[in-house]
Amino acid sequence: MISSVSGRSVVVTGGSKGNGKGIARCFANAGAKVVIVARHLDQAEAAAREIGNGASACAGDVTRLEDMEAAAKTAAARNGGIDVLCANAGVFPQARIEDMTPEQWDEVVDCNLKGCFLSVKACVPWLKKSDQPRIVLTSSITGPVTGFPGWTHYGASKSGQLGFMRTACIELARYGITVNAVMPGNIVTEGLEGLGADYLETMAASIPLKRLGSVDDIGHAAVYLASREAGYVTGQTIIVDGGQILPESLEALE
Ligand code: NAP
Repeated sequence: MISSVSGRSVVVTGGSKGNGKGIARCFANAGAKVVIVARHLDQAEAAAREIGNGASACAGDVTRLEDMEAAAKTAAARNGGIDVLCANAGVFPQARIEDMTPEQWDEVVDCNLKGCFLSVKACVPWLKKSDQPRIVLTSSITGPVTGFPGWTHYGASKSGQLGFMRTACIELARYGITVNAVMPGNIVTEGLEGLGADYLETMAASIPLKRLGSVDDIGHAAVYLASREAGYVTGQTIIVDGGQILPESLEALE
């Protein structure tokens, strides 16, 4: 097990469910001090209790800078600074271009892309003081690599995160802060399950490893990117998708 995140102060946005909860759990199991940030405090507190190992919760909406500054301040006060930000909060409602309203576009891009920027902005003052500062973004294969009907706004936001990352890692390198991204494929989360059984079955059949991913698959990748061992890795991505982006044809899946 990677041990160099032990004792580190970690903020996980969207940590009350799904990938964020898996990320929070993997860090907590590795000895890190975790603060979960989400809009619904009751759900974040329940997740923190379930995770244990000193994990705690804080209310915050990633689309509001004042919320994220307050969350960063709370996490720093609780755990003696911030060493790792996992900017994971995201939403993925579906709407095709012909039906999508400008408000629906804004909702997704505001949360997934602007929220990522605001989370980073709020945590950088604390990360600068860390001797092993890390930012790990949760992007996606959808957008940067693949497409799916109904997700133009989502795909744009997830590609946008990678564009953000490639300049952020250069700007923040002077502080020793690394910025990397995990790109999940189809991971069993509360959000994904909301897309229905047909979606889940179709996806599982299109994955060479023949299963959907688990939130721990994403958590382990995030812990690696936050570790001392990954200290020379910045501006990079790890695809965690069971091989889903690779098949050229149905024959390749036989
Ligand atoms: P999920 O199960 O729906 O959980 C979403 C989490 O984000 C919840 O904790 C939610 O809590 C929080 N959240 C949503 N909007 C927020 C906001 N404005 N401010 C703060 N927190 C907010 O989703 P998931 O499937 O775990 O997805 C998490 C991330 O993984 C997203 O960035 C998503 O794009 C990415 N991803 C997921 C998959 C997948 O297959 N599941 C694949 C690729 C990428 P509140 O509602 O209480 O705020």
